[in-house]
Amino acid sequence: MLQMIWFRTDLRVQDNSALAAAMGSGPTVALYLISPAQWLAHDDAPSKVDFWLRNLKNLADELGKLNVPLLVRHADDWSAAPQVIAELCQQLQTSTVHANEEYGVHESRRDQAVSEALDELGITFTSHLDQLFFKPGSVLTQSGTYFKVYSQFRKVCYQRLHSALPTVLAPPKAQAQLAISSDAVPEQVSGFATPSETLRQLWPAGEAEARRRIDDFAAEHIDFYQSTRDFPAKPGTSQLSAYLAAGVISPRQCLHAALSANQGEFDSGNPGVVTWINELLWREFYKHILVGYPRVSMHRAFRAETEALAWRNAPIELKAWQEGRTGLPIIDAAMRQLLATGWMHNRLRMVVAMFVTKNLLIDWREGERFFMRHLIDGDLAANNGGWQWSSSTGTDSAPYFRIFNPLSQSQKFDPDGRFIRQWLPELVGLNKSNIHNPAAMGGLFGIADYPAPIVDLSKSRSRALAAFKSLPHFAGTEAP
Ligand SMILES: Cc1cc2nc3c(=O)[nH]c(=O)nc-3n(C[C@H](O)[C@H](O)[C@H](O)COP(=O)(O)OP(=O)(O)OC[C@H]3O[C@@H](n4cnc5c(N)ncnc54)[C@H](O)[C@@H]3O)c2cc1C
Repeated sequence: MLQMIWFRTDLRVQDNSALAAAMGSGPTVALYLISPAQWLAHDDAPSKVDFWLRNLKNLADELGKLNVPLLVRHADDWSAAPQVIAELCQQLQTSTVHANEEYGVHESRRDQAVSEALDELGITFTSHLDQLFFKPGSVLTQSGTYFKVYSQFRKVCYQRLHSALPTVLAPPKAQAQLAISSDAVPEQVSGFATPSETLRQLWPAGEAEARRRIDDFAAEHIDFYQSTRDFPAKPGTSQLSAYLAAGVISPRQCLHAALSANQGEFDSGNPGVVTWINELLWREFYKHILVGYPRVSMHRAFRAETEALAWRNAPIELKAWQEGRTGLPIIDAAMRQLLATGWMHNRLRMVVAMFVTKNLLIDWREGERFFMRHLIDGDLAANNGGWQWSSSTGTDSAPYFRIFNPLSQSQKFDPDGRFIRQWLPELVGLNKSNIHNPAAMGGLFGIADYPAPIVDLSKSRSRALAAFKSLPHFAGTEAP
């Protein structure tokens, strides 16, 4: 009986649970849905949609080598998915549809609706664990609830990994040719502008590129990850996030590459490897949070007591931040990196997010949305987790009184100003002591087109502390 694999954010043929299950059960066709209205509603960035399409094209070639035809259908938003899939399955006489689990509320509802529509036709819908090492709901506290604290979650993950390490699946074997031809993959989808060629070249599509990145990172950089990962001017991190988010590489493939650089150890041995695997577990943690506490994927704060915070409505300051014109070089350089490349270094994501939510006291949801609209690696769970961590509204988040000072972060993590000079050419002539805070030179630096800081860091810090302390939950608490 004909099987179908419905690809979503799992755009690869290697180590793909649903593809392996489908091909192991019978002749298989593949499906991908183009859903522009849904993508717009989810604030998916044009660079990310372009990355999906480029990877889809690559995937079609890889599937071609396996004789699996790829069908591309349109379902403007996911409410149309059940009908589109049901009709196609009837037309092809498909017995089973396989898909890899996705964890947002909308994704779960979509899959439920598709499953029910297929069920009425006697077609089976099966979903597979693929994006994560552990199924959400399988890593719980002793009282049976989802963890809220990362270190406790990680401890249980380590125990599980010790007892049963997830394995990488064998490469799929080609099936006999089917009398079904593949559809062309669109170059572009209306509503999503094609990004610049420079941006595209930073993120080449395809499993081979993802493999090259992980191999290079494991061979050359992972050993030094712990000491280099916080310095945005250094190539200290894997730059795999876009590939992981689109599923061009699996977390299992990443885990095994890291383990082989550390004699199979994940919680001892090389500290670089251990630290990097911990990041894969942060990714895991936030996806479990999404399922355990679905309010976070519905624009609600994880900590309900912070919902009453008096965020400021400050559109001019928000725009200055979005455009990299705050007058604080590290913030502006980071935002320009985001706008030009679709990616931002993790240390800087934390610094700019704290700046928005604490120094500007602007609602974290504004920043979350703007990031999502520009990140090539935009991922609901990680992005929401990162924003709610920075704004002290999330699970296991930064305490509200620990507010990063952008100037000291800049001096510490970009000591020579190399990163700032790369993104702010107007400051290229400043030496390494002045570049972090040109305003301190009292207008003597003669750079006409670089703005004065839009906010006083010390006063705005006090304003943020006061806003948090005015919440009943935090009343009477003091910064240590
Ligand atoms: C405000 C904010 C927003 C963020 N938004 C996203 C997002 O939309 N998509 C996204 O993938 N990551 C997001 N992150 C997490 C992190 O910044 C990126 O995953 C990382 O910078 C990607 O670069 P890399 O691949 O070189 O990471 P590496 O340091 O090489 O880490 C390896 C992988 O681990 C995962 N990872 C690393 N750090 C985290 C983390 N803190 N939380 C969850 N997963 C992590 C990523 O998949 C990453 O590719 C955000 C962080 C913050 C503070």
